[in-house]
Amino acid sequence: MTGRGNLIDGKKISADIKDEVARGVAALSDKGITVSLAVILVGEDPASQVYVRNKKKACEATGIRSVSHELPESTTEAELISLISDLNADDSIDGILVQLPLPSHIDEDKVIRAIDPAKDVDGFHPESVGALSIGQKGFVSCTPAGIIQLLKRSGVEMDGANCVIIGRSNIVGKPMGILMLRENATVTITHSHTKNLKNVCKNADILIVAIGRAKMVDADYVKDGAVVIDVGMDRDENGKLCGDVDFDAVKDKCLAITPVPGGVGPMTIAMLMYNCLAAAENKAR
Ligand code: NAP
Repeated sequence: MTGRGNLIDGKKISADIKDEVARGVAALSDKGITVSLAVILVGEDPASQVYVRNKKKACEATGIRSVSHELPESTTEAELISLISDLNADDSIDGILVQLPLPSHIDEDKVIRAIDPAKDVDGFHPESVGALSIGQKGFVSCTPAGIIQLLKRSGVEMDGANCVIIGRSNIVGKPMGILMLRENATVTITHSHTKNLKNVCKNADILIVAIGRAKMVDADYVKDGAVVIDVGMDRDENGKLCGDVDFDAVKDKCLAITPVPGGVGPMTIAMLMYNCLAAAENKAR
C-alpha cells in the first residue's frame, strides 16, 4: 500500500473468505459430510432478527446447513440449556450459535458455558478464551479474527508495529489485543479510564477502535500514515449507520482505513462461517 486514504475493503475480503469456506464445505460434502450450524434466537429483538437472517444467508452462500431454533421470549434458562445439551450431543451439528443479547431473565454467562467448546463457533466460551490467551488451539471470537484477516490480506505489517486498541470488551478489545500480540505487535489496550487517550493513540501504527460512540475518533487521535480499523456500528445525528471514527476527517491522514459499512462488519459473519467449517474439519479428523 502506498499514498494515503487507501480503503480496506471488507466486502471484497469477506467474499474471498466465504468462497474459500464454500470450497472447504464442498470438499467435505464430497466425503459425505454436511457442515451444520445450529442458530438459536430467543425473543423478537429486531436487530437480533436481522443478524440471524444475515447469518442464515451466509450459511446458504457457503453451503453450510443452518438449523434454526426460534424460541419465544418466555423461554426459561433451563429450557434453553436443555436445548443446548441436546445440540451438544447431536452428532449432525458442528457449531452452536446463541444470538446475544438474551432476555434479561436468562444468565448469558451460564448459557455460553453450556455450549460444548468443540462447537463454540462464536469463541465466547471461557475455555476458548483461555486457550486463546495461552496460545493453544480453540475458536477465536469472530470480529477480532476478522480484523486480523483484513490486516493480513491488505498487506499491513503487524510484526513490531505499535498497535493501540480503544475498548476492552470481552468480544472485541481483549481478544484483539491477544491476537495482535500473537502477530508480534506491541499492544496497548485503552478504555474509558485511560489518561491522555489522544496522545496514546497518536503513537499507533495500527489503531483499532471499538468503543460504540459515533465518530468519536477524529484526526487528533491519528498519527500521519497510520492504519485505522473502525469496529463501531453506530448511528449518526441523521440516523445513518456510521463508525466510531470520523471517517471524512481521518481518511486523508492515514495510510489505510476501513469504511462503515463495508469494513469490519462483513468480516464477522465470514469468520463465523470459517469457524463452522473448522469445527466440522476438526470432527472429521
Ligand atoms: P462495549 O462492550 O460497550 O465496550 C466499549 C469499550 O469502549 C469499553 O471498554 C469502554 O471502556 C470503552 N469506552 C467507552 N467510552 C470510551 C471513551 N470515551 N474513551 C475510551 N474508551 C471508551 O462495546 P463492544 O461490544 O466492544 O462494541 C464496540 C463497538 O463495536 C460498538 O459500536 C458495537 O456495535 C461494535 N461492534 C461491531 C461488530 C461488528 O461485527 N462490526 C462486532 C462487535 C461490536 P470501559 O471498559 O472503561 O467502560
